[in-house]
Amino acid sequence: MQLSDFPRASLAHLPTPLEYLPRLSEHLGGADVFVKRDDCTGLATGGNKTRKLEFSMGAALAEGADTVITVGAVQSNHVRQTAAAACKLGMACEVMLEHRVARPSAIYTGSGNVFLDRIFGANLREYPAGTDFNLAMEEIAAEVRDRGGKPYFIPGGASNAVGALGYVDCGVELLNQFREQELDIDHIVTATGSAGTHAGLAVGLRGSGSDLPILGIGVNAPQDVQEERVFLLAEETAALVGAPNSVSRDDIVADCNYIGPGYGEPTEAMNEAVLMLARLEGLLFDPVYSGKALAGMIDYIRTGRFGKGTKLVFLHTGGSAGLFAYADTLVL
Ligand SMILES: *Cc1c(COP(=O)(O)O)cnc(C)c1O
Repeated sequence: MQLSDFPRASLAHLPTPLEYLPRLSEHLGGADVFVKRDDCTGLATGGNKTRKLEFSMGAALAEGADTVITVGAVQSNHVRQTAAAACKLGMACEVMLEHRVARPSAIYTGSGNVFLDRIFGANLREYPAGTDFNLAMEEIAAEVRDRGGKPYFIPGGASNAVGALGYVDCGVELLNQFREQELDIDHIVTATGSAGTHAGLAVGLRGSGSDLPILGIGVNAPQDVQEERVFLLAEETAALVGAPNSVSRDDIVADCNYIGPGYGEPTEAMNEAVLMLARLEGLLFDPVYSGKALAGMIDYIRTGRFGKGTKLVFLHTGGSAGLFAYADTLVL
């Protein structure tokens, strides 16, 4: 694996810290929980998309693009980080926002990430759920070309093989930190959505010879769909970095039992997890991704599936800007 072969824009503060959570671990009375602080990647309140965007934006610049086009939900953390990255690199940012959550409040449609998108001056266009975004993207790309610009498309979550390189890098970074801190970790837990984070991590670890298991906690799709999505992207990413076939299908595990009523819909367990981490460790998680993934990890510890003495790393993928959009739905 040779990541230095790929164009890369410098956007993230790396390496992010790896920290022990003593009060949470004691409270749950089972596993020892560590947190990988990818909420601290440094760009516009941080998050996992910044690592991916180093490679996506790097590729855009290498192709001579001056405009990026991307897509996400109204409260997309990916869109917020892309809008900020475009500002930092002097590019224009065209955004397609999908209304994915039913009956959104005015706070949901105006605060949190979408408020920050507006601060970054991104050109926002809103679409109903289920829109054909390939078609919409082609229309915007044609507009950009008509005005003499050069567009570059970044898919939702920057989850293609190029974006997933950011998490190949994170996998390598984690292995270095385990070595430096003399940690013998048993399991990594992460939220998994558009799949690039999970897929990239799997390639980063397996491509480095590590067989450390990864548990993805799904936030939108059913298990078979999510695992297949991660696996296909992992295969593509592995081929891109020159570690073909390093990940096997049964190595990709996603538990999709913590989604609740749907993507972006609050659950009691997410609510409890967000408050627990805030009040025990002073850490902010998000309602859509990391909060539901935490709810999954907490349930695994409580039910003994992660037993006493197990050493876990929870990948904190960020998203706290999205909390403000849930100010009227979280129960405090
Ligand atoms: C996008 C996102 C994820 C999921 O990462 P994918 O690469 O899309 O699977 C998890 N947590 C947060 C906060 C995110 O914004």
